Amino acid sequence: MISAISLQQLQTRFGGELINGSVQFEQVCTDTRQLDSNALFVALKGERFDAHDFVGELEGQVLGLVVDREIPGSKLPQWRVADTTEALGQIGRMCREQFKGRVIAVTGSCGKTTVKEMLAAIFSQRHNPCVTRGNLNNQFGLPMTLFELTSDHDVLILEMGASGPDEIAYLCGIAKPQVSAVNNVMPAHVEGFGSVDAIARAKGKIYTGLETGGTAVVNADDDYANYWLERMPEGVHTLEVGLGHQWPIHADNIALDDNGCPTFDLCIEGLAYRVRLQLLGEHNVHNALVAAGCAFAAGVPAAEIASGLQSLGGVAGRMQELCGIKGAAIIDDTYNANPGSVAAAIELLAQRRGKRVLVLGDMAELGADAEEMHRQMGELARERGLDALFTLGPLGAAASVAFSAGRHLPLHSYRDRQPLIAALTHELNKNTTVLVKGSRSARMELVVQALCGNA
Ligand code: ATP
Ligand code: UDP
Ligand code: MG
Repeated sequence: MISAISLQQLQTRFGGELINGSVQFEQVCTDTRQLDSNALFVALKGERFDAHDFVGELEGQVLGLVVDREIPGSKLPQWRVADTTEALGQIGRMCREQFKGRVIAVTGSCGKTTVKEMLAAIFSQRHNPCVTRGNLNNQFGLPMTLFELTSDHDVLILEMGASGPDEIAYLCGIAKPQVSAVNNVMPAHVEGFGSVDAIARAKGKIYTGLETGGTAVVNADDDYANYWLERMPEGVHTLEVGLGHQWPIHADNIALDDNGCPTFDLCIEGLAYRVRLQLLGEHNVHNALVAAGCAFAAGVPAAEIASGLQSLGGVAGRMQELCGIKGAAIIDDTYNANPGSVAAAIELLAQRRGKRVLVLGDMAELGADAEEMHRQMGELARERGLDALFTLGPLGAAASVAFSAGRHLPLHSYRDRQPLIAALTHELNKNTTVLVKGSRSARMELVVQALCGNA
């Protein structure tokens, strides 16, 4: 935190009730297993636990409590509120209001973390950014990031995730970004939204959450670009980025090396900067354009954007190339999967040399069309000429059948991880690239570990 906040300030501003007086704090914690005697404890309710059950005897171990019911017997100062998750956001909002630097927010269906890491690399060259750690992009993680702001930071870079229609508006109400971007819209987390249109509407709230003078960075290549532009609030600047020469920030002369690392001209205001990314896949050119747009809107000179993009070495679990058993190339893309990111993975694999094997764990949260989407992925893998598809999970069978359609190929569709690993191990040699991908729930990183000899 930049300066201390008191429970009294919070109660005056947001309501609720003070019990046992007020206290000042500069840190917040939410887990009784990791207490901090200088922190305020916010009691949250999760799927398994209600932290209210653990806060009865925390005197001396924390400074005070935020609770939704009085904790009898506790002498600690307590701020009693209707909803402790909202209170966490309100404390985050106070921290945000203490901050005078620029605030950039990125949402989208895929690539948020990648774009955020690109921005961190760009700003780290000459600034001291406060950045969303890992994937802490929701109503819990975003306030936690704001608590980490100090007077040494001069820019704040936030990832915003959404699995429902109102979350982005909620997060913007806390973080008040001045530059924001929707990286893209794809069928991810459809279950929480109902349709892809609904996803576009929900993500677009990152633009309507901007105040006068803010800048909306719009991915002009996205199907929904015009939808957002037509609804842009008055007084908000727009900056379009894309592949076409007509956009103020665009990419030109894209080439992929043998591994799949893209090089391209980053064109900003008429000048071109040759950029060689250390990341795999052409989709990262799109991510780079969105990151470039955000950085440019926040005042970073073009040459510095180009050098920052080149400096990013990789993002764990997102298309990271590793050395596998028998010299095979293993591409670890296990962090997550949805049809958009699987398509990007297939494209990357398609242009590799030698034998190309895709290993796909089931994609989760796709709603009623889940099986059809798996089938489409199998079809795309066949069309793009991949040599083999291995799947894990009940939905994968649809992908396998579509992959082998009309070719009488053996179906490599598995329900359990161990037999999948055993079968894959036979495929490995130095002429083979195996790209492993799947939803978080599929835990495909265990497959990567085994294929790299680390299991
Ligand atoms: P989450 O919603 O889980 O936070 P995210 O939006 O932060 O995801 P990343 O973690 O950056 O996205 O990447 C997730 C997956 O999407 C990775 O497999 C990555 O290779 C792929 N991906 C990243 N950018 C794009 C893109 N622009 N288009 C398609 N796929 C992408
Ligand atoms: N919690 C805690 N002490 C415990 C167990 C849980 O303070 O011994 C907190 C935890 O940090 C979280 C809340 O209780 O803030 C809910 O926990 P749960 O594990 O249910 O959260 P989830 O897994 O849903 O995030
Ligand atoms: Mg993320």
